[in-house]
Amino acid sequence: MAGMPHDLFLATSIPPALELALAERFQLHRDDAPPSTRAIVGGGMMTVDQALLDRLPALEIIAVHGVGHDRIDREAVAARGIRIAITPDALTEDVADQAIALWLAVERRVAANDRAMRMGNWTVPLGRRASGRRIGIFGLGRIGQAIARRAEPFASEILYTARSAKPVSWRFVPDPAQLAAESDVLILAAPGGADTHHLVDAAMLDRLGPEGVIVNIARGSLIDEEALIAALEAHRIAGAGLDVFAEEPDVPYALRRMNHVVLAPHQGSATREARAEMAAMVVANLEAHFAGREPPGLLD
Ligand code: NAP
Repeated sequence: MAGMPHDLFLATSIPPALELALAERFQLHRDDAPPSTRAIVGGGMMTVDQALLDRLPALEIIAVHGVGHDRIDREAVAARGIRIAITPDALTEDVADQAIALWLAVERRVAANDRAMRMGNWTVPLGRRASGRRIGIFGLGRIGQAIARRAEPFASEILYTARSAKPVSWRFVPDPAQLAAESDVLILAAPGGADTHHLVDAAMLDRLGPEGVIVNIARGSLIDEEALIAALEAHRIAGAGLDVFAEEPDVPYALRRMNHVVLAPHQGSATREARAEMAAMVVANLEAHFAGREPPGLLD
């Protein structure tokens, strides 16, 4: 069978240009993965569970078009010696831009004003000053650090929570509850998964307080969405900028109707530039793997 292209399963839809590039190199399967599947490709929201792994005895590599991998059963994958490769760095700066864009849009009512003007209304409701804020970042990895660098000129102070302190000038606050209490703006930039599930609940939102704004570019699972809606409706927090949601693509009507909420359809990495680099990196990861080299985006 030498020379036959390897079987590759597309677990989610991916950009057409990437699909074309993969089709030149692999035998693609969209609806079902045959047992001969050696690679899986999909976006950061793809699910790879034990049941799927059990059906794929020849699987060698899962190439994520993105960096999130919270729906991949890492223990089961590791037990089989299957590699996971992601596309770090390709999207970092763009996701950080999105966090700042959502935050400023909340503070200065960018989206609400745009909607009002399209309806023919010229009113001047007051927004809130963005500068001089204490900005708390939950998760200071690639994206969190890029957010902190952008936030620095706005911030009176930058605080962060991560699993360990980093060699940075920003203040490490190990306890997320304290981070929320000390922040005017709380930006979520940590992975989804069991460790961070519903990290932001009613109590956290109350710590953030009525002047506090929350921004989520991480994963919808980090926030108890019902608690967030309740806090926003009662103005127990000032606003929210959301790129990610509990049940994408379903966005609760309660969130859609509030003007102090700015919504984006999981757009963090959706720039032409990031998507081109991500696609190139998926191909590079697979080519390296099948050439017997270490994929550049190998997850450790
Ligand atoms: P990363 O470099 O791995 O950084 C993750 C950070 O989160 C690290 O600082 C890590 O702390 C921290 N962290 C992990 N678990 C934690 C916990 N239980 N408590 C506190 N902190 C914790 O990842 P990244 O590239 O910055 O990406 C972050 C996340 O953004 C991804 O996992 C993905 O879900 C999301 N994302 C969203 C979009 C979008 O389009 N909206 C795009 C890309 C990524 P340590 O450094 O101490 O380990």
